Amino acid sequence: MSVRVRFAPSPTGHLHLGGARTALYNFLFARQNQGQFILRIEDTDSSRSTEIAIRSIIEDLYWLGLKWDEGPDVKGEFGPYRQTQRLFIYQQYLKRLMEKGYAYYCFCTSEELQAQREEAKRKKITFRYNRRCRNLPFEEVEKKLERSLRPSVRFAMPTSGETVVNDLIRGKIVFKHAELDDFIIFRSDGTPTYNFAATIDDATMKITHVIRGDDHLSNTPKQINIYRALGLKEPEFAHLSMILGPDRKPLSKRHGDTAISEYRRKGFLPQAMVNYLALLGWSYDDKTTFFSLEDLIKFFSLNRVSKNPAIFDFQKLKWLNGYYIRQLKNSDLLALIEPYFREKFLSFDREKLMKAIPLIKDRITVLSESVAWLDWLFVKEIQVETGSKEKIKKDNSLSLILNAAYQSLSQLDDFKAEKIQNVLREKVAELQVKPKIFFQALRLAVTGKLVSPPLFESIELLGKEETLNRLKSFIKYFA
Ligand code: GLU
Repeated sequence: MSVRVRFAPSPTGHLHLGGARTALYNFLFARQNQGQFILRIEDTDSSRSTEIAIRSIIEDLYWLGLKWDEGPDVKGEFGPYRQTQRLFIYQQYLKRLMEKGYAYYCFCTSEELQAQREEAKRKKITFRYNRRCRNLPFEEVEKKLERSLRPSVRFAMPTSGETVVNDLIRGKIVFKHAELDDFIIFRSDGTPTYNFAATIDDATMKITHVIRGDDHLSNTPKQINIYRALGLKEPEFAHLSMILGPDRKPLSKRHGDTAISEYRRKGFLPQAMVNYLALLGWSYDDKTTFFSLEDLIKFFSLNRVSKNPAIFDFQKLKWLNGYYIRQLKNSDLLALIEPYFREKFLSFDREKLMKAIPLIKDRITVLSESVAWLDWLFVKEIQVETGSKEKIKKDNSLSLILNAAYQSLSQLDDFKAEKIQNVLREKVAELQVKPKIFFQALRLAVTGKLVSPPLFESIELLGKEETLNRLKSFIKYFA
């Protein structure tokens, strides 16, 4: 039987790192087994699901390169692939469950349930529904329905025994039925709950492996019992460990960006994201770090997915991103950084930006950083970084140095980095000033910054006229 896996996001917000990793592992597992990868939108919670979220999740998955074989936008034989369009399917299976006696109407009001919840809290025990409606006589149920009371429907869990989950990552996990609840499968508004809809979908979409975050581990015995009650074939389960922040608390906004779209906006490359996410809980061996999506399809295996939580390491992600940036052709890198310059400047010299790429390629780790490295090249007037002037030596030598640089450069006809370097170094020797002081002053005058791309190349790129102009105004205002 061919492998069929799914990624089943609830479209209540952006795609996050954890979701993206789940999608990636499912994708890899499908591809390496020549199986099918399915995208299913779990939008039964209409109060929290939005179209915008669906679109943004789809966009991010495409950006990561994780294409699906069946989904809301790709026809397949097991559709529709949005839960809100599958109500008729859930109703059929609900009917079957009711007929078999595995589900029952519950007329308890939210106030009654709240009271039970509070009592459990007082007694410091886990709240479990007291099953008051489980054995209501048939006539009573009929009467209540006639009075148009709108019940929810609960699953009748076995009250004794246990369910064993043989998780592909975590091994055997035993859940005692006495600790499980008669959970709601249909709300009183006629919509199915996650546990029911997801189970029916996995069964009817012929999903063979459910690979998902371990926040769903406690749902698994509930879902298995639905399969069993309906006589449906159970899939294999694999639960991925949590992603934690460096402080070992569950990864959240407090730790920085968690949405994939944020990383995309700031200029992380999908290659880096995919490589990093793959390593967040999986390893090939203890030394290989770089994996393309194709490599991962070859090498990924659930056997090497760790059961321990993964710690998110932003520095490593940045470092990997820098690596992938350096692998790009300059013309590709130009196309990727251009939008950041368009955002900042109404117009700018694209040729100049292309020429500047070798100066920053090794220095940036995120695409958006390129603007801070190169904005001085495109501004009419440089902004001298606050505080930087005080950092360079403020005595008479400053004006001496800058005037000397001005003189040497103005006499230079072949305005190339190497020549620029030669004449400036000659000047340093002649004046007997410290090279560091000399070049720092010059860098500040030309770029407005104390940290910039290599100075001589930068001066060449800026051009003779503009360099001299900048030197002149700097001398006027600061020296
Ligand atoms: N819709 C669920 C979520 O976004 C996923 C459920 C599952 O994978 O079974 O967390």
